[in-house]
Amino acid sequence: MLRSVILAASRSSRMERFVASAPVSRDLIRRFVAGTTIEDALRATRELVAEGLTVTLDHLGEDTFNPAQAAAARDEYRNLLRALAAAGLTPAAEVSLKLSALGQRFDEQLAHDYAAQVCAAAAEAGTTVTLDMEDHTTTDSTCEILAKLRQDHPETGVALQAYLRRTEADCRDLAGSGSRVRLCKGAYAEPESVAYQAKLEVDKSYVRCLNILMSGDGYPMFATHDPRLVAIAEDRALWFDRSPDRFEFQMLYGVRTEEQQRLVADGYRVRVYVPYGTQSYGYLMRRLAERPANLGFFARALASR
Ligand code: FAD
Repeated sequence: MLRSVILAASRSSRMERFVASAPVSRDLIRRFVAGTTIEDALRATRELVAEGLTVTLDHLGEDTFNPAQAAAARDEYRNLLRALAAAGLTPAAEVSLKLSALGQRFDEQLAHDYAAQVCAAAAEAGTTVTLDMEDHTTTDSTCEILAKLRQDHPETGVALQAYLRRTEADCRDLAGSGSRVRLCKGAYAEPESVAYQAKLEVDKSYVRCLNILMSGDGYPMFATHDPRLVAIAEDRALWFDRSPDRFEFQMLYGVRTEEQQRLVADGYRVRVYVPYGTQSYGYLMRRLAERPANLGFFARALASR
């Protein structure tokens, strides 16, 4: 219930103005977002790489309603990739891309073409692109664009969401050699017709999908902070005889940092999803919706002012 309310607020521009004007927002942003510029993104990446972590960078840009905004988003990623390569931070750092930022909502062909240009820039920089997955109305289109991108850039990855009923089948389709699949629970408010609603059902689906990916020939990326799911992934790696260089864990910037370090110390690969940019409101609200306990952090920070 609280999750749905927060996700609804994430789409309200009135709420966005209110949150942006609250001084506490700065604390929240500092905790979960690396900064606003490419320089900020490089600094955070350097710090994480020095700790033995790898990184995927997400640019938080304006919503995209026209081709000029889509081109600006593409250019931001190309500049970011050039800067990462120049700083010697590839292949440790890759990028995460939302096709909606490249115009997917109004022109799928344009989104494909711009994504292909970002993939080419990533290849030139010696690294990879992973497509974020957004709400369920975009899943088919994202999978179709991924298939086309992989013809020239087979290393392109995609996020799949365990809360969607279709995802076991998508995992089977994408468990083959050369694929890179990021398995997450899913961060949007979805109807019952397409998504499991109960947490237990989502967790069970995650485990079924994890088994499919672990037993396949691709490179699974387990994006979760859930200690039970992390333990199950560690167990299945032994069961399916997967060495720690044949899969990775992924967690969000600022979330369970001690666990990130524990996994690295135990010999696992851990990639941190690092957002940067000026448009952090939607991202922060999705984080609050996942873990309403983060509201406590928000309230404590407010009270201390
Ligand atoms: P949750 O059910 O949120 O949490 C389970 C348990 O994890 C909690 O009970 C607690 O024990 C622990 N935990 C969680 N958060 C914290 C915390 N802050 N501090 C301490 N313990 C905590 N979603 C999409 O829809 N599309 C994407 O493309 C996408 N990409 C992602 C990429 C990465 C790298 C990650 C990590 C997540 C991504 N997500 C994406 C978000 C994801 O779908 C979930 O919404 C989010 O990860 C929360 O789910 P969870 O698996 O961590 O478990």
